[in-house]
Amino acid sequence: MSQPSLPDLYLRRGHLLGIEGMSRAEITAIIDTAAAYKLLAADRALPRDLLRGRTVATLFFEDSTRTRNSFEIAAKRLGADIIGFTSSGSSMSKGETVDDTAKTVRAMGIDAVVVRHKSAGVPAHLFDVLKLPVINAGDGAHEHPTQALLDALTLREVFGKIAGLRVWIIGDITHSRVARSNIFSLGALGAKVTICAPRTLVPPAFSAAYGVSVTHAMDGALRDADAVILLRIQKERQDAGLFPSMGEYAANFGLTLPQVAGSRIKAVLHPGPINRGVEISSDLADSEYSCIERQVANGVHVRTAILASLLRR
Ligand code: ASP
Repeated sequence: MSQPSLPDLYLRRGHLLGIEGMSRAEITAIIDTAAAYKLLAADRALPRDLLRGRTVATLFFEDSTRTRNSFEIAAKRLGADIIGFTSSGSSMSKGETVDDTAKTVRAMGIDAVVVRHKSAGVPAHLFDVLKLPVINAGDGAHEHPTQALLDALTLREVFGKIAGLRVWIIGDITHSRVARSNIFSLGALGAKVTICAPRTLVPPAFSAAYGVSVTHAMDGALRDADAVILLRIQKERQDAGLFPSMGEYAANFGLTLPQVAGSRIKAVLHPGPINRGVEISSDLADSEYSCIERQVANGVHVRTAILASLLRR
């Protein structure tokens, strides 16, 4: 059997800081490349030494399960070395600044940085300071580009295409970087995006700023949506008091299996971590509508594509 040819994606900016401003062609190229790496992985034909001799540093100033581990798996599968810094186990907890931590890491001879931080703009700032490839793994409520890319790959697998798809994003929009990156990505790919949240969890200017429909009632999703992306309430980013109680939020904006089964919705996505019984019922999370595990799997392939394209040259 002939060896499948290696995808050759070129990220011309030399970084992945956000989806905003990316064209449909650029986003599609990344998803195509991730899909190609997925096939290579399934055939056990990944180029195991593509990034041999390269070192990737993960700098996580905020907690992560899926994103950090999937970057690590992706880097290792391509033969790169990976070193991980988290704020609790390093000098970051002794008061070292982000810049100083990053410069320390660079001095060790790393080739790329994957960074997550509670403040929007830190990845872009580090790109200016370090002059190395930087990948944004989530910055405050700003962007989470690899999440949007893996969501797009997942939707394309389920529906065969994204253009024309009706996607509802439901939950804490104000504090969600996943919502922002998905609005840019799905918009560029030609989906019709509706944002649904309590009034206190969606900025009033959102519709005008991002060209999406905004609604505060969820029943429309059951008639209109092909797919929904559910979001966690970002308690760590809230000042509190934005809605009466989790119980009331769940009653008005939580999605359940009987609701979905009686609707036109075919796919339910969630970036995780999920709060069972709040934004998603347990039976829905475990149902055939749930794409949650497929999203996690696709996250590895998207991150493989990104690392390969930024580092193989
Ligand atoms: N894991 C996603 C993020 O880091 C979503 C979430 O935390 O709710 O933004």
